[in-house]
Amino acid sequence: MADILYTVEKSCVVCDKKFTVTKMRNRLSMVKQDSDFCTYYKEANPYYYSIWVCPHCGYAAQDTYFEEQPAKMAAVKAFLKGRDVKVNFGGERSRQDAVTTYKLAIFFADLAGTLPSRQASLYLKLAWLYREGGLPDEEKAMLDQARAHYEEAFLKERLPIGNMSQITLEYLIGELLRRTDRLPEALNYLAKVVGNPQAKNEKRVLEMAREAWTLARDARKEQAAQGKTDDGNDDMPGT
Ligand SMILES: [Zn+2]
Repeated sequence: MADILYTVEKSCVVCDKKFTVTKMRNRLSMVKQDSDFCTYYKEANPYYYSIWVCPHCGYAAQDTYFEEQPAKMAAVKAFLKGRDVKVNFGGERSRQDAVTTYKLAIFFADLAGTLPSRQASLYLKLAWLYREGGLPDEEKAMLDQARAHYEEAFLKERLPIGNMSQITLEYLIGELLRRTDRLPEALNYLAKVVGNPQAKNEKRVLEMAREAWTLARDARKEQAAQGKTDDGNDDMPGT
């Protein structure tokens, strides 16, 4: 573990004090990826280290934008003013430490007016930590939050979002709906991807969308057989 961790000195964008962050080296060997893009590596879980937390004032954010001025800096400063924060998330982190850093980052992202897509990504990674920890209820609750924020991002933000095209984002929302048992809505989103002629340019996502659509349709059939819902149209669009 020690050989893949290293430290760098950073300045806090909120309190201007310097502190040390522990980072994980980039070159990890990927083992597999889940259908919602949760990626597994041989050496360790890099998601544990992607939130930086200032030990002086307590501000926390994702590493990729920690050094950006928060949109609502005044709100963040007002909240932290006069608080005696003693947190230190330097060094090796346990899963529980990592969960705490994501909860802090989610709290500050909301307070600071962070883009919905960035909030969604925090919820998604927190869900993955719960998945790793074998906590399916907590995982689902966070997947649901991620989905809600991605839907908001879809309406409010300019695409692509990060490295996600419209097709990828629609697929991910559909897959998160499927994983949280909202099957009719999942099928709607996934059908948009499967039926989109542009999706041919993103073969891997198209394949994942077809697989998710089939899983969602089968799950809905099973529900219909149990009398829980109506069974709807069974034809995959665009095929
Ligand atoms: Zn600070």
